[in-house]
Amino acid sequence: MPSSRFRAVDEAFRKMPIDVGTPSSHTSDYYGCDVFNRKAMREYLSEDTRRRIYESSEQGVTLDSKTAEDVAAGMKKWAMDKGATHYTHWFQPLTGGTAEKHVSFIEPFGKGEAIEEFTGKLLCQQESDASSFPNGGLRNTFEARGYTAWDPSSPAFIIGDTLCIPTIFISYNGEALDYKAPLLRSEIAVGKAAEDLLAYFGIKDDRVVSYLGWEQEYFLVDSALFSLRPDLIMVDRTLIGHNAARNQQLEDHYLGSIPARVLAFMKDLEIQCFKLGIPIKARHNEVAPNQFEIAPVYEAANLANDHNLLLMAMMKKVSERHGFKVLFHEKPFAGVNGSGKHCNWSIGTVSGIGLFTPGKTDNENLMFLMFVANVLKAVYDNNALLKASVLTATNAHRLGANEAPPAIISAFLGDQLMQAFDDLLNSNDMVKLKGKTKYSLNIPQIPEILLDNTDRNRTSPFAFTGNRFEFRAVGSSANCSNAVSTLNTIVADQLRAFKEAVDARIKDGTPVMQAILDETRETYRASKNICFDGNGYSEEWKKEAKKRGLDCETSPPKSYEALTTKQTVELYRRTGVMTADELEARKETFCDIYSKKVEIEARILADLTENHILPIATQYESRLLENVSKMKEVFPAQEFKKLSCTEIDMIRHIAEDLTEVRKLAEDMELACDKANRSKTESSKANAYHDKILPYIEKIRALIDDLEMIVDDEMWPLPKYRELLFIR
Ligand code: ADP
Ligand code: MG
Repeated sequence: MPSSRFRAVDEAFRKMPIDVGTPSSHTSDYYGCDVFNRKAMREYLSEDTRRRIYESSEQGVTLDSKTAEDVAAGMKKWAMDKGATHYTHWFQPLTGGTAEKHVSFIEPFGKGEAIEEFTGKLLCQQESDASSFPNGGLRNTFEARGYTAWDPSSPAFIIGDTLCIPTIFISYNGEALDYKAPLLRSEIAVGKAAEDLLAYFGIKDDRVVSYLGWEQEYFLVDSALFSLRPDLIMVDRTLIGHNAARNQQLEDHYLGSIPARVLAFMKDLEIQCFKLGIPIKARHNEVAPNQFEIAPVYEAANLANDHNLLLMAMMKKVSERHGFKVLFHEKPFAGVNGSGKHCNWSIGTVSGIGLFTPGKTDNENLMFLMFVANVLKAVYDNNALLKASVLTATNAHRLGANEAPPAIISAFLGDQLMQAFDDLLNSNDMVKLKGKTKYSLNIPQIPEILLDNTDRNRTSPFAFTGNRFEFRAVGSSANCSNAVSTLNTIVADQLRAFKEAVDARIKDGTPVMQAILDETRETYRASKNICFDGNGYSEEWKKEAKKRGLDCETSPPKSYEALTTKQTVELYRRTGVMTADELEARKETFCDIYSKKVEIEARILADLTENHILPIATQYESRLLENVSKMKEVFPAQEFKKLSCTEIDMIRHIAEDLTEVRKLAEDMELACDKANRSKTESSKANAYHDKILPYIEKIRALIDDLEMIVDDEMWPLPKYRELLFIR
């Protein structure tokens, strides 16, 4: 009888692309049809209510309860007209992903009758049990309540029969228990700090926000094959599996033609995204086999991030009906590229001035250099913290592997910008003020900066790419908020410090633009060490980075220490983004999640070893033993010795592997028990990193060795060549 592995492979091969057809209308006709956007608001809200809600979402004006009541009424009518029967507050707990509790609009009254109800209060706030989500000790047992609160800056939308309302998630005392609340607070901080500096350049009354354009990478695996891999089902990555003879060495997958079944999935997905107003722009094959990317046009960071989370949820759903499972893990397969989620980040005004966009005039270029220098300084001073914002149990397998950015944060500027800054450094008295307005500067060494967009260093974790920074260290499974709010916060604090320094120079009599120029020069000088345009994969860089004082830690639990240093706590206090307690809670939570993830991996691996691999390898060993004993009966002793020696070696090899695997699995279990007795979350996570991970790697190596020996027909799990090449 063929093994279950063969049946699954056969089933996978027989799958045909599902023709999703083409919607009967143009994309622009149905784009955003499931979103309570301006078009829907025009139909369902009064002019006055609309004005107030625009003010709230665009200028951060707090909504009054009367407006909330009106919005709720209109939103309910719109949702019901579209067939919705339920609503939910949609939020982003620290578990990753999103959470929702569906509540029916139905409210019984009288004797057996009911009406649909949805009030301003229900729109604005909902109670939720904080104790069932990671909270890092932020709730006392007697006060387990948490609240979700409406975020009017991200529009409500409908999925299936449910109206979804984007919300923040906070504890009874108002502490953040999610990713959205700190992001919104960081927006306020960076907006205010940047607006203060723009005032020097005569730019006023233009709100500053941060922008995000993510690039989501992912793998697709046939669902029949997936269902035979307990590791993929449980932890989203293969814990064992020998390299396929062919993987990505031919470099033929990147931007290759998209396989028919995958294209059908992508098309279907895009239709769903467009209905939800997610502005998907690009789709392509990535470097590894069965790896792909999807990217939208950038949006205000808060909205872009909601869209990313919505997309990830949608991808899981849509892939099912095409017979695929989508993997967001950063390193689902050893030996081929992992997946990231490059976060293209910038700050700019709502009227369209990009603060990292070079200008045409001297003033514009000075402004540009000023903002870039401040970003460099912020990243330099807080490189350990920034790394902590992206390092997770899963992303740690990708960072530092030879395809992804290293686990050392550095910045890449490109030749032209580097040159402009270097010229600035050597220009103490070359700066002349001239012209009609005293703000006009002649800075001969700063040419009109036309930055070379193609000048890319793919090994840099934080690269300037023309009008934005591309933060490439972010993991594919991450909520980008953590990275973006950290960037916003550190930059906000740096901009504030910069302004103080400039004001001091002005007070001493330096003209405004000269003061800015001088301070920009000093800011760049002080942060030059973060700039690196060489090969980030090289060993020399690791040494050099250490010399430059950059954080080289690769262990996530150790890296999380950066969240609670005095420097971080002060920075977050000054910017008002998080309190010391909130930071402490986040560290606890991240450590806790880290330990749990590694523990689950250890348990799955032990299960795979004991129940899947050892029985099969033993069976194969017995078959060989049987063969050898039969040979012994047939051949004369001398000849038997000659003919059986390789087979006996193989039996020995298997027996040794089996003994060692068994021993390692037992020891790993004991080590887990010991780790679980640790006193603090942090020491537990460190134990999982330092003690358990090495077992996982050693056991894997032995099993992968066995995979190459044991009869292919008997091997119980789909192999890499099947997982990666069947689509
Ligand atoms: P690549 O793969 O070449 O890096 P992509 O086109 O896949 O580039 O993605 C680039 C992303 O950067 C897109 O989401 C794009 O909208 C976004 N982007 C472009 N300009 C900005 C900007 N000023 N701020 C933030 N994101 C931006
Ligand atoms: Mg791309």
